[in-house]
Amino acid sequence: MRKIQMVDLKGQYNHIQNEIDTKILEVIKSTAYINGPEVQNFQKELEEYLQVKHVIPCANGTDALQIAMMGLGLKPGDEVITADFTFAATVEVIGLLHLTPVLVDVDKDSFNMNIEALKKAITPKTKAIVPVHLFGQCANMEAILEIAKQHNLFVIEDTAQAIGAEYTFNDGTVKKAGTIGTVGTTSFFPSKNLGCYGDGGAIFTNDDDLAHIIRGMVNHGMYKRYYHDVVGVNSRLDSLQAAILRIKLPHLNDYCESRRKAAAYYSEGFSKNDNIVTPITSSFTTHVFHQYTLQVKNVDRNALNQHLMDAGIPNAIYYPVPLHLQKAYADERYNEADFKNTNELVNTVISLPMHTELDHEQQDFIIKTVLNFIEKNA
Ligand SMILES: *Cc1c(COP(=O)(O)O)cnc(C)c1O
Repeated sequence: MRKIQMVDLKGQYNHIQNEIDTKILEVIKSTAYINGPEVQNFQKELEEYLQVKHVIPCANGTDALQIAMMGLGLKPGDEVITADFTFAATVEVIGLLHLTPVLVDVDKDSFNMNIEALKKAITPKTKAIVPVHLFGQCANMEAILEIAKQHNLFVIEDTAQAIGAEYTFNDGTVKKAGTIGTVGTTSFFPSKNLGCYGDGGAIFTNDDDLAHIIRGMVNHGMYKRYYHDVVGVNSRLDSLQAAILRIKLPHLNDYCESRRKAAAYYSEGFSKNDNIVTPITSSFTTHVFHQYTLQVKNVDRNALNQHLMDAGIPNAIYYPVPLHLQKAYADERYNEADFKNTNELVNTVISLPMHTELDHEQQDFIIKTVLNFIEKNA
């Protein structure tokens, strides 16, 4: 059996090695390292893929969130609502801009923002909602857009884990994750579904004015060379990363399909055990399985984590602490009773190896090892 990895970047590279190696040398020889034609072409190709008017590449997914919030003109004291169960980057940038983060509980089955909790969190100071499409499927965007419209709020979709996922509205309209709200952001961190070989990110929007503002902001607030109209940042996707992403983008749908197949194979393997809750896909979205995350019952999840490690099966706890209990983000405003689901999930979730290169021999071994432990200990 091939060695099991949480994410098999080498295996994926092997399939496109010739193309990548040739291209990297070509870019190096071109010396157009920053903002060259590779970046501009990638931008156009991603706009086409996502069916969105504007893609603004930037340095990473955290910057993308920060710049989106800057572009919307959010001001210190504005409240921004996001999910309590996500990677810290989402709440970090809210804090960094001196906005007020308001964390809300998630649904236990989808891991995404709970709509009742969202409604309850809205105050006259609320300015934006940041749904995170966690683990690869969309949050309930139709409900979120409705609430945003009622209260005149921006919607910033954190699509770092769900690029390629599709959302279907009640009227049958289909949109790609990240192109539904006011603005969307993503990350091209190597282990993400569309990963480059370093750091990278992008911002998406259909709003021409917002796109213009953001394009200047990522480049020191310049709209004309050496004229600085607003306070900006330096956040760029470099040409090498853009070139790599241009080679990988045409494979993204196949990558998503491989992940879905691997997820279905796991779920079939675990289907007969009542102490294992396999991930669901909400009716309004496709799932691109950035993570394949189980919830385990009646066993010590940390002991399972160790057991798998001992058997040579990498696995991870995404996430071990809810954000509202992290030292950096804890606040007296929060009431534990409002975080019933995240407080439970942090003790029951476990993410298994998930990538485009898993084979059945590896998955059979993982399934067998998990089942053995649960059957013995539950
Ligand atoms: C990875 C990730 C980010 C941050 O992306 P970076 O490129 O690492 O800065 C933000 N939000 C979520 C949900 C993520 O998973």
